[in-house]
Amino acid sequence: MKDAQPTTVLLKDYRQPDYWIDQTDLSFELGEERTRVEAILRIRLNKQLHKIDGGNYPALILNGTELHLESIHIGDLALGTQDYSLDGEQLTIKVSDTEFELRTVCFIEPQKNTSLEGLYKSNGMFCTQCEAEGFRKITYYLDRPDVMSIFSCKITADKSLYPVLLSNGNEFERETLKNGFHSVLWRDPHKKPAYLFALVAGDLEHVRDSFTTCSGREVTLQLFTEQRNIHKCAHAIDSLKRSMRWDEEVYGREYDLDIFMIVAVDHFNMGAMENKGLNIFNSSCVLASPETATDNSFQRIEAIVAHEYFHNWSGNRVTCRDWFQLSLKEGFTVFRDSEFSADMNSRTVKRIEDVALLRTAQFAEDAGPMAHPVLPDSYMEISNFYTLTVYEKGAELVRMIHKLLGKQNFRAGSDLYFERYDGLAVTVENFVSTMEDASEMDLTQFRRWYHQAGTPVIKVTDEYDSSEQCYRLHVSQSCPATPDKKPKQPLHIPLAVGLLSSEGSDLLPDKTQMLNLTDANQSFTFEGIKEPPVPSLLRDFSAPVRLEFDYSDQQLAFLMANDTDGFNRWDAAQQLSVRVLQRMVDAVVAGEPLVVDWVLIDAYEQLLTAPRGHIPPRYCQNPVAR
Ligand SMILES: [Zn+2]
Repeated sequence: MKDAQPTTVLLKDYRQPDYWIDQTDLSFELGEERTRVEAILRIRLNKQLHKIDGGNYPALILNGTELHLESIHIGDLALGTQDYSLDGEQLTIKVSDTEFELRTVCFIEPQKNTSLEGLYKSNGMFCTQCEAEGFRKITYYLDRPDVMSIFSCKITADKSLYPVLLSNGNEFERETLKNGFHSVLWRDPHKKPAYLFALVAGDLEHVRDSFTTCSGREVTLQLFTEQRNIHKCAHAIDSLKRSMRWDEEVYGREYDLDIFMIVAVDHFNMGAMENKGLNIFNSSCVLASPETATDNSFQRIEAIVAHEYFHNWSGNRVTCRDWFQLSLKEGFTVFRDSEFSADMNSRTVKRIEDVALLRTAQFAEDAGPMAHPVLPDSYMEISNFYTLTVYEKGAELVRMIHKLLGKQNFRAGSDLYFERYDGLAVTVENFVSTMEDASEMDLTQFRRWYHQAGTPVIKVTDEYDSSEQCYRLHVSQSCPATPDKKPKQPLHIPLAVGLLSSEGSDLLPDKTQMLNLTDANQSFTFEGIKEPPVPSLLRDFSAPVRLEFDYSDQQLAFLMANDTDGFNRWDAAQQLSVRVLQRMVDAVVAGEPLVVDWVLIDAYEQLLTAPRGHIPPRYCQNPVAR
């Protein structure tokens, strides 16, 4: 039975659970018709919420969907229907102790599970997907990310059909049973929420490698896939090793189990999932052979493997308190994988790719009926919140914090964050305030970014005073209305600016200066500027905003040929090319001859032939004149 009325979940209604689950011991008997799931849960009253007075304990309410309940025990006592009630998707149990062991036995039908959430069988193989709320389709549980538990998982199955039996953590015990069955017991020593649970059973081949961590521990790496794909695994394994090294070097994060496994299957419905120690991928996100895959797919695989691996710390060791905090793990991890790709390949090209996605897809989301803040305050269905705003804009917010704090302070902040919250389920606010603590930077106004939907617009005008050798930028910020109708307040926006001389060199002492926009209207004065400069605004796309500045064609051509910021060179080329194309369209409409503007051709000539720093004379005259 399913609740017909979807309800709205509100962030302000969050409260801790009444009970914690310290230990979760699962036992699966995988069958062809149905699967038996036994769960032994060590449960403890949340004493922060409940004082023990006279033995009045709150009922234990567990989530469960499409489960056939066989039996319930508390300790050795079998519960009858007077001790519990089953109502829709909730199992409510009377409780008479502060700590107890609950044992449930359920049957599920993975063969009939077409939702591809929970445990399902597809192509002769068992596989799980539990984020966000799939675990409740496996057994009765407190299926929420702030309930973190130590898991063990025993899998029993027919050895001929399912020779490979995988779950999270380290393999602890393996047994051959009668009738051709076998079982494997996995133990994960790290606390985790149920959404990170995984089970895979099937007839899979694997490649094996190893990685020696910074403290000298050897970790076994295994990539499992269908037989016919086994020759396509090398790049993913190499990408994994590079990711593991990078996370040690850049974030000081060492891998924490004896084994790391990736399973790549054709019929996995999500792109990839970061289950602890057992990542599950759709084949397209992990398999590639040089004969058939493009450079792009090689880079995409490297990025996805890295993203899921990086979750081991940003998501798994430190997880989300509730699903409103999704960007805590996704925004931070997208930022981490983006920086990894930038370090492995071209930093400028990576930035251009990220911004192109942001501008075309996320800005559109922000401008449409689906506009929502990175940290939403309500949802009806959490699956609908896996959005570009939560992922990509969320990553841009982390990137801005990185820019505002600087590399060293950001690292100090991330170290402190992992140290403080290891093994805990926390909030975006915990992340931001830790960054403040590590840097003494005040992010009070910056926090508005997390709560305000919509893409801000920055309008810039400039003036040059030759007698005072002084250059001024006048900047205003605003944000278009969004469907939530909430008033828009000025944001703290880091605006990276460079000023270029007529020779194409940077005029500012540090080349790029970070302006802190905090008001609706602000002016910035640059003294000792001996000639009218060409401004290079929003360098490296320092904030997810729309920028408006009335550049002349000549200025764009100049930036395209000379800007020392790679991203802005590309951006100037885009703007100029679009202008020229639009004029040609106008010419076609007016029946005039088609001419490509020489300003664009010259700029490309410069780009392709001139050594860096050489400027065509025609742009040197007065670059600011429009
Ligand atoms: Zn992710």
